[in-house]
Amino acid sequence: MATYIKCGQLFAAKDETVLKDMAVVVDGNKIVKVAPAAELAPEADWEVLDLSGKFVMPGLIDAHLHVGMSGEPDTSAYSHYSGYGEIALTAMLNAQADLMAGFTTIRSEGDINFIDVDLKKMINTGKVWGPRMFVSGVPLSSTGGHGDSHFRPDIDLGGMAFKVDNPDQCRAAARKVIKYGADQIKLMATGGVMSMGDEPGAPELTYEEMKTICDLAKSHGKLTTAHAHGAAGIKNAIKAGITSIEHGMLIDDEGIQMLADYGTYLIPTVIAAYQIVANGVEAGIPAWGVEKAERCLKNHGENLKKMRKLGVKIGFGTDAATPYNKHGEQGFEFELMTRYGDFTPVETLLAATKVNSEMLRWDDKIGSIEEGKLADIVAFDVSPLEDITVMKNCTFVMKDGVVYKK
Ligand SMILES: [Zn+2]
Repeated sequence: MATYIKCGQLFAAKDETVLKDMAVVVDGNKIVKVAPAAELAPEADWEVLDLSGKFVMPGLIDAHLHVGMSGEPDTSAYSHYSGYGEIALTAMLNAQADLMAGFTTIRSEGDINFIDVDLKKMINTGKVWGPRMFVSGVPLSSTGGHGDSHFRPDIDLGGMAFKVDNPDQCRAAARKVIKYGADQIKLMATGGVMSMGDEPGAPELTYEEMKTICDLAKSHGKLTTAHAHGAAGIKNAIKAGITSIEHGMLIDDEGIQMLADYGTYLIPTVIAAYQIVANGVEAGIPAWGVEKAERCLKNHGENLKKMRKLGVKIGFGTDAATPYNKHGEQGFEFELMTRYGDFTPVETLLAATKVNSEMLRWDDKIGSIEEGKLADIVAFDVSPLEDITVMKNCTFVMKDGVVYKK
């Protein structure tokens, strides 16, 4: 039985157009018809969903988050859990919160012990409900780098990342990540904010190391994604052939030009730095983390404005769940993108749909409301083009033709 959705306003995300009084017909997990409601009446046995008072759009895609963390003030959150069982169940609840916030597709940017890969399997086999997932498994980091977060010299296992310190180790670790089911390889090109003792501006993995990883990924049809703040590390990653730069908060003009020239995607994650700065030491965030976030956020807005002018491909990602950046609350990033990067509301919507689907090479299946695509459809009570803050309050969620929220 088909489902007929009456849409008061329809933003299909093929371009910036918003159409009034449209109808979308869903059969199984696919969109089979999109037409003006006046020209398409529902058949007798169809279920009718009346979203005539709502702004309807394709399911949102968050291209950067971590399912195993929940916005705890201290980044060493993983060490507070009793074990993998608790982390895995937490990951399930976080992914479900993402879906209920309208994010029908999420990309995990690295989680401990491949829990994201396992969760994706459980969701895809229907054993638990949740969003569509693209997973990175365990990221690759240099010793002492952004993903090497253990500080007891006698413990060398169980951190966030595989530690790699030369191209051969990179090749071996990348093969392992692919073997255990990652959709893309995540690497740490520079230091980070919530990693004690490293410097966001400093390069970590070298050009040669990242080139080895990117070449191997390409030969296996996989994408690559680089945590990168500092300009030198960003440029190394771009030259190495990385698919997307994550954060990019300490980039320089040459790096911005390179993003445009190479067609590399940039995922801004403004909310990650913003929430650390806004909540601060008083909220329990370590002082070194707050200091680094302040530095990272300082020029991020100006840099994003330059990128926007140059036509850099800007996607949407939130880094949920860094401190106070909770799963299910990441719709705040839309507002922050307009505030910091001068993006228009509709540009932020396209970043989280069309652009992200193209980055994931899934634009033939998701990212817009078109006949033949998967039925990932969400809705909001007012138009985000008039009030972008509404993106925090998704009121209808359909993924793969199944309604999760209405
Ligand atoms: Zn991250």
